Amino acid sequence: VYKEREELFSLNKLAARFYNYLLTETNMGEKALKYLNDRGFTKKDINKFNLGYAADEWQLLLNFLKKKNFSLHLIKKAGLISEGKNNSYYDKFRNRVMFPIFNNRGEVIAFGGRILESEDNYGPKYLNSPETKIFSKKKNLYGLHLAKDSIRKANSCIIMEGYTDVIQAHKNGFENSIASLGTAFTEEQAKLIKRYAENAYIAYDADTAGNKATLRGLDILNELGINVKVIELEEGSDPDQLLKQEGPNVFNDYLEKAVSLIDFKINMIVKDKNLSEPGSRKKILRSIIELLSEVEDDLEREIYIERAALKTNFKENVLAQEVEKEFKKNR
Ligand code: ATP
Ligand code: MN
Ligand code: MN
Ligand code: MN
Repeated sequence: VYKEREELFSLNKLAARFYNYLLTETNMGEKALKYLNDRGFTKKDINKFNLGYAADEWQLLLNFLKKKNFSLHLIKKAGLISEGKNNSYYDKFRNRVMFPIFNNRGEVIAFGGRILESEDNYGPKYLNSPETKIFSKKKNLYGLHLAKDSIRKANSCIIMEGYTDVIQAHKNGFENSIASLGTAFTEEQAKLIKRYAENAYIAYDADTAGNKATLRGLDILNELGINVKVIELEEGSDPDQLLKQEGPNVFNDYLEKAVSLIDFKINMIVKDKNLSEPGSRKKILRSIIELLSEVEDDLEREIYIERAALKTNFKENVLAQEVEKEFKKNR
């Protein structure tokens, strides 16, 4: 079993090299290379993250790996091929930009593949390797092998959603950035972060999925004793977009304006709601009271009552009374 893991690492390493070769050295990769360049990713970024291209062919990788004496059994176990009819196999990733996923030791454990925008391709925008003997999505963080030293040094990390967010962040000097491989953030990933830093920023996409994931991530990190803050981007944006459009200084402003767990939760309760209609106003205040009554520290609770009162334009003393009532009930 130990040997199989080692074999899977070397198979993935070779596959990553093959994809990178197709992207950077062949005509087949031209469109993908142009796509990446158009998005602002240069040769340097491509090298650093070992990006590649899976050609628009059915068995290019499969045949290459077979020629390199890897068994069909192992190629299957690596999750790089899919089974067709009559015991036939074909490359899982085709006509996609390839993002190798590394473990924290820098070994390739899986891939994410992105569809080219110009193509009227079918299938999801991103396709990921399945879970394998060496890849557990919930236990790994994209970019950690490159970010860990910076995370340790800064005693903080920035958690993003996607591959392109992380690459853009590193390119702009935020080298303590990592991605949670999709929006779901897990306790295992939080523990991994805790090995390197006491502080974390969540910089998820400013959309419904991102906000939901932020709320979950906040609680998981907070639960582990990590001091966590949220970078609030403009609706519909993500770190890649913001960095590309506004540059590192503006992103740094957002970082400095990052809000605490309670502030973010208050913002979410208030967001897009009607603050004047009595029915919805009452619901909002109820949610805020419930939230603030969970704050253990007396002074901290006072501070947030003051801020929530300002944000909702509600009488502070009445809000304080209600929160204290609820707080005592919880004891
Ligand atoms: P781009 O800027 O290239 O459109 P993105 O990273 O902004 O990409 P999102 O749709 O915001 O794309 O998704 C964030 C991340 O979630 C992706 O980078 C990828 O890791 C993961 N993801 C998205 N869709 C899928 C999917 N269908 N299957 C697996 N992972 C996915
Ligand atoms: Mn998104
Ligand atoms: Mn995004
Ligand atoms: Mn994006």
